[in-house]
Amino acid sequence: MEIKNFINGHYQEAKSKKTIPLYEPATAKIVGQIAASNKSDVDEAVQAAKAIYPWWSARTPEQRSQALFKIAERLEQSLEELARAESKDQGKPYHLAKEIEIPRAIANFRYFASLILHTQESARPKADASALSYTFRKPIGVAGLISPWNLPLYLLTWKIAPAIAAGNTVVCKPSEITPVTAYLLGDLLNEAGLPHGVVNILFGLGSEVGQAIAEHPEIPLISFTGGTSTGKKILEASVPKIKKTSLELGGKNAALIFSDSDLSEAAIQSVRSSFQNQGEICLCSSRIYVQEEVLEKFLEKFVRTVSLLKIGDPEAKETQMGALVSKEHREKIESYVALAVKDGGTILCGGSRPKLESPFSDGYFYQPTVITGLPKNSRVLREEIFGPVVTVSSFKTEEEAIELANDSEYGLSATVWTKDLSRAHRVAQKLNVGTTWVNSWMVRDLSMPFGGLKQSGLGKEGGEYSLEFFTDTKTICIKI
Ligand code: NDP
Repeated sequence: MEIKNFINGHYQEAKSKKTIPLYEPATAKIVGQIAASNKSDVDEAVQAAKAIYPWWSARTPEQRSQALFKIAERLEQSLEELARAESKDQGKPYHLAKEIEIPRAIANFRYFASLILHTQESARPKADASALSYTFRKPIGVAGLISPWNLPLYLLTWKIAPAIAAGNTVVCKPSEITPVTAYLLGDLLNEAGLPHGVVNILFGLGSEVGQAIAEHPEIPLISFTGGTSTGKKILEASVPKIKKTSLELGGKNAALIFSDSDLSEAAIQSVRSSFQNQGEICLCSSRIYVQEEVLEKFLEKFVRTVSLLKIGDPEAKETQMGALVSKEHREKIESYVALAVKDGGTILCGGSRPKLESPFSDGYFYQPTVITGLPKNSRVLREEIFGPVVTVSSFKTEEEAIELANDSEYGLSATVWTKDLSRAHRVAQKLNVGTTWVNSWMVRDLSMPFGGLKQSGLGKEGGEYSLEFFTDTKTICIKI
C-alpha cells in the first residue's frame, strides 16, 4: 500500500519523494509506505484550501449540511472496509472498529450536518429601542487539524466535520503511525461530491509536517489531539500569529469505587474502562482507587475478569484485545511495568508479552496488567502510560478519594462508582477533570462540552463548543 497525500482532490507523492515504512502491529510486518511530507507539501495544501475557501464559506448552511450528509452516507457504504483497515492499521479488534469507532466517524458528519441547521445567534435591543446589538458568526479560513493514532478516523472526523460544516477549509495531518483510513477518506470525499480542496490530507512525521502546519502563517487556527508535550509545541508554534488553538491532551484518569457501589458492575465496567482498545484511549481508567473495606472483593472479581480477556488476532470474533500500536509503544509500556516492580509494586496479572502462534508471534501484543502496592509518588501512578496497565490502590474516606484523584498534573476524566446519589454529585463536582462518569464509562453525548483541565487540554469540543471554535463571533451594533 502506498499512502499518498490528498491535495486538491488528488493523490500525490510527497515532494521530497521520501517515504516512511508502514507496519502492521499484529504481525510486525511492513505493509506499505507513507509519503514523508514536509513544509513544501503543506504550502501546496494550504494554497488549495485557500483557493476554494471563498466559495465554500459562501455556501448556505443547508448546502454544507447536504455535503456532510452525503459524506456520512458514503462512509456508511464502506463501513466494513474502513473497520477492517482501521483494525489492521492500529491493532484494535475488528468488531470494536466496526461496532463503535467507524459508526462514530459517520455520526460525526451526521451530527454536525444537522447542528449547522439549528444554530442560534443572540440579539439585544436597547431598552428604549434606540439600538440593536446582535452576534454574527463567520468561518475563519484554513484550519489545521492534527490527530493521534489511537482512534484514527473517529478523532480526525471529529475535527473535519465541525470545521467544514462551519465553512472553513482544512489541512489535516493524521498520525504517521496509523494513516490508512485517512488515506481511504480522500476517495470517499470525492465520491460524495465534496469540492476539491475543502479537505486536504497530508502524511508524514509530526516533527516535520505537523510542525509546519502549526507554524504556517496562513493557517489561523489549529485543532490538536495528542500528547501533552506535543500540545505544548503546538501552543508555542501558534504564539507568533496568536492562532486560535484547541488542545485535547493526555490523561491519568482515576476511577473511584465506593463501598456502596454495585461491585460486580463496577468491576466489569472497570475492565472495559481500563483495557478497551488495549488501554489506548485517552479516557481509559489508569488509576483505580477502591474503598478499603471492599478492596479484596473488588480485586478478586476484577483480576479474574481481566485474566479471562482474549488477546490475539484482531480480526477474530472472540478477540477482546488486539496488538499495541507499535514496537516503541510496547517498549514504553514494558518500561513502566519494570519501574512498577522496582518501586515495590505487585503484579496481580499480566506483566509480560503473551505467547501467540504465527503470524502473530512477532506482533506487538501485551497482556492486560494489574498492579497494586505502589507508593503514591511512583511515576507509574503519575505519568500517562496509555496502554493495558492499570494500578489499584485503596482509600478510606470520601475526602481521601477526592484528594487522591485530584493529585495529578492531568485533569481529563474520572469515573465514580456509588449508589449514593448525593455523594455522586458531591464527588463529581469536586473532581478537577473535564468529564466525570457516574456508574458508567464512555457514555457520550456529542452536544456536551468535551475537554481536559490542567495539563489535559485547552478549550472544549463538542456540539456548539466545536462550532464556536471553528468560527469567529462578531458583535454588530446598529443605531435605530
Ligand atoms: P502525539 O502527541 O505524539 O501525536 C499526535 C499528533 O501530533 C500526531 O499526528 C503526530 O504526528 C503529531 N505531531 C507530533 N509532533 C508534532 C509537532 N512537533 N508538531 C505538530 N504535530 C506533531 O500523540 P500520539 O499520537 O502518541 O497519541 C497519544 C496521545 O494522545 C496520548 O497522550 C493521549 O492521551 C492523547 N489523546 C488525547 C485525547 C483527548 O481527547 N484528550 C484523545 C486521544 C488521544 P506523528 O504521529 O507522525 O508523530
